[in-house]
Amino acid sequence: MRSRRTDLIVLALLLTALTAALLLAQGRIAARKVLTPLRLTVLAVVTLFIGWWGQGQLSIVTVLGVLRTAAEGGSFAFLAYDPFSLLLWGFAIFGLFLWGRALFCGWLCPFGALQEFAHHLGRRLGLPQVPLPPIWDGRLRYIKYGVLVGLVSLLFLAPAHVDTAAEVEPFKTAITTYFLREWYFTAYAAFWLVAGLVLFKPFCRYLCPLGAAMAAGGLLRQRSWIARRTACGSPCQLCRVKCAYGAIEPSGSVRYDECFGCLDCVSIHDDAARCVPLILAARKKQQLEAAE
Ligand code: SF4
Ligand code: SF4
Repeated sequence: MRSRRTDLIVLALLLTALTAALLLAQGRIAARKVLTPLRLTVLAVVTLFIGWWGQGQLSIVTVLGVLRTAAEGGSFAFLAYDPFSLLLWGFAIFGLFLWGRALFCGWLCPFGALQEFAHHLGRRLGLPQVPLPPIWDGRLRYIKYGVLVGLVSLLFLAPAHVDTAAEVEPFKTAITTYFLREWYFTAYAAFWLVAGLVLFKPFCRYLCPLGAAMAAGGLLRQRSWIARRTACGSPCQLCRVKCAYGAIEPSGSVRYDECFGCLDCVSIHDDAARCVPLILAARKKQQLEAAE
């Protein structure tokens, strides 16, 4: 119990520091030389401390438990049995108001972090990346909402099968049991990580019911936190092309339901050496100065 108290204090400090930094120093975090090392460090802490050490991988099972309790009128006291996860839920829900799904999915999900590490490993190994054609990428994104609706339907129509169906999340295998389960569970979790070597975070983007629930919760978002210029989308397409989540429309507007808050576009937007309108404006200024 004592060590759990320490874990809770450390977690509260980490979550407060992360949310404060994203809120108050987004531009500095997104600086070109800072972003990737900082982000990978945070994701490593999330995997090791929140995931494997603290057993704080949030799950759709909790959402389903809350729905069942709300429908049946029972007690929500079960949530208090795991204060570590409850604290994470508190921050994830708070984050929905400020960033949509991005705080949790982009920064606090251990399995999401593992997939991101798989992506970096794939690139390090020089494996070819195989992005799906945009039309298929756009279609497959809706599967996760179907999985979420399927699980909620099952909850009311065939509740005995819900726990089995919720294994669509590989979280229990990869995080809770450290991959030490029956081989088919391990193979399933490993499949998504191996696929992530060549395809960017496929489980997150196409199948995850918790991600779908977080995207739906993102309707609570109160602000558009990613700055855009009038040139974003017309004519400039750089951020859209660089967003690995496909969360920027050709028009330049951000699809916050798909945005994981990786800050890559924020980094480009604020960088005079990469943002195309900034480069063109600087060139024009130089030419005018030379002409004078
Ligand atoms: S989409 Fe799912 S696995 Fe990915 S970060 Fe979100 S909750 Fe985690
Ligand atoms: S690059 Fe894409 S996912 Fe990352 S913050 Fe920008 S819109 Fe969101």
